[in-house]
Amino acid sequence: MKRWPLLLGAAALATSVSCMASAEASIPARPVQLTVELPQPAQKLLYVHEVMPVEAGALTLYYPKYIPGDHGPDGPIDTMMGLQISAGGKRIAWQRDAVDMFTFHLVVPQGVKQIDIRFQFPESRRITSNLMGVTWDHVALYRAGVPTKAQMFQPSLVIPADWGYASALETVAHDGGRISFRPVPFNTLVDSPVIAGKYFRQIDLTPANSPVHRYLDLVGDDAPAIEISPAQIAQYRQLVLQAQALFHSHHYNDYHFLLTLSDHTSTGGLEHHRSSDDRARGGTHMFSDTEHFMLDGSLLPHEYTHSWNGKFMRPDQLWQPDFEQPEHTTMLWSYEGLTVYLGDALTVRSGLWSPQVWRDAVAYRAATFAHRPGREWRPLTDVTTAAQLTYGGPQGWSNWRRTTDFYREGQLLWLAIDTQIRALSHEHRSLDDFAQRFFSVDDGSYVTHTYTFDDVVAALNAVQPYDWGSFLHGWLDGVGDEVPLLSGIERSGWRLVYTDTPSRYQKALENVGEGELSPMGVDEMFSVGLFLKSDGRIADVLWQGPAFKAGLAPGMQLLAINGQQYSTDLLRRAIKQAQQDKKPLQMRAQGDGVTQVYTVHYDGGLKYPHLVRLPGAPDYLDQILAPRAENATPKHH
Ligand SMILES: [Zn+2]
Repeated sequence: MKRWPLLLGAAALATSVSCMASAEASIPARPVQLTVELPQPAQKLLYVHEVMPVEAGALTLYYPKYIPGDHGPDGPIDTMMGLQISAGGKRIAWQRDAVDMFTFHLVVPQGVKQIDIRFQFPESRRITSNLMGVTWDHVALYRAGVPTKAQMFQPSLVIPADWGYASALETVAHDGGRISFRPVPFNTLVDSPVIAGKYFRQIDLTPANSPVHRYLDLVGDDAPAIEISPAQIAQYRQLVLQAQALFHSHHYNDYHFLLTLSDHTSTGGLEHHRSSDDRARGGTHMFSDTEHFMLDGSLLPHEYTHSWNGKFMRPDQLWQPDFEQPEHTTMLWSYEGLTVYLGDALTVRSGLWSPQVWRDAVAYRAATFAHRPGREWRPLTDVTTAAQLTYGGPQGWSNWRRTTDFYREGQLLWLAIDTQIRALSHEHRSLDDFAQRFFSVDDGSYVTHTYTFDDVVAALNAVQPYDWGSFLHGWLDGVGDEVPLLSGIERSGWRLVYTDTPSRYQKALENVGEGELSPMGVDEMFSVGLFLKSDGRIADVLWQGPAFKAGLAPGMQLLAINGQQYSTDLLRRAIKQAQQDKKPLQMRAQGDGVTQVYTVHYDGGLKYPHLVRLPGAPDYLDQILAPRAENATPKHH
């Protein structure tokens, strides 16, 4: 298979363009006609029909494998079904590649100018009776050997006639439920999902006098789900303004926040250049429940930040000419870590979070990594390099194995960088200067620029001279105490402490949210070293912690504490009691049908993380989280 040259920096763009032009000449000029139909929403089946111009001879087709933003080869090839390829009604045999399951080989007969490709895709986690999300990489095959930006597709969608819809794609015709979009290159198509639904609302967030439109598009399972308050809308308007004040640029024509509010679809977000595919954890209650709205508060700011950091500016080896070439994920500490840092700062600057919520969230994350023994053997750089193993990994022993730590440990890393710039420059410069410098090139363009580790070091040095290379290597390659994990918090004038009362943020995580680094549960990792489901099932055990030493393991079920039937409340009362009477906790647990009492030696009491001020030190967090004046340069905040 032909290998495409990697872009090694903005200067290499010209090479890439000429390469694209020569490739364009070798494939038919007509676009692939791609039609995706959803005849019965309750059945959640997408029917795919592609009409692909071809020439006679050997042809290789790919199903998208490495999906940008997914950071791994997770295209759902195991789910697609019913593949039939034909020409003029005659079946053409195809063969799956024996090594790469995403690859299909066929021979186009002489005289055939176009083939019909049909298959079905059960989109069980994106469709409900009343709404849908379409990610085009699930529903298209494309040609091997040609960069995706040189393969034109003309997409159409057939959905219930009374549904509204939104996408960064441009509509050319809308008749009943049939929507035809303007042809786009295949990489742009994959970057442009569609949401649609019976309960649909579009809110214009465009600032006054801006020719560039930003829309908040909502689809929900029911009418109340998309009821958003004027105050909440005002906060999203502020998000747009604060992002402009931070980045001094935009890398889209228009931008769509595509927000799905469902209790039945998958949750999370996926970034795109000109839109984001946002699925609230709070589902239909995101806007109506204050705890949900807090936990989902940073979702849109995070994915919006990615339009600059990740989509427009991208670590070079995360850029590939098609979805088949492997992505190298080593620089996710920048792609994701900086996005968490800037996205969460924008969450506060726009009013979606109070500074207190930010401090509570960061305290919780800092405590989590301070209780992450896996940092003793595994440097962050190995976690990023093997990122594709971290997303679906088991929760049990994840504190020793490590998981997607580059997001939130990455936030602590960039806080350390920001506060170091502030300290060295005597508060004249900050990471805002870096953001403006790094992301504002080619304003208005959404052609990806790639960057290297050395480019980050150079951009930091241009803001504030320092040995950033050694600093970054020390953090990324170091283990254990070699990593100054809490240095950013302390330099910002704050300190991580533990009390016996959880923050509002941590309470919300336990009450209604999935735990940030693991699914929903009761986090007693900082005390007895257990992460539990509310019914007492053990999800994780802190490596070499008190519960570990007693012999407890993930997968066991706690039945009783000190002879009383298990409840979360009882566990906490028992931990408090042990602090007083210094007696070990007797935990009765069942595993593999065997019940046994485990003796846990712990008398340190309940421990929940908070940030408190360091007396006398300047408060950088106050500066970092303060809203920026519109059009302000970073120096003047
Ligand atoms: Zn992200």
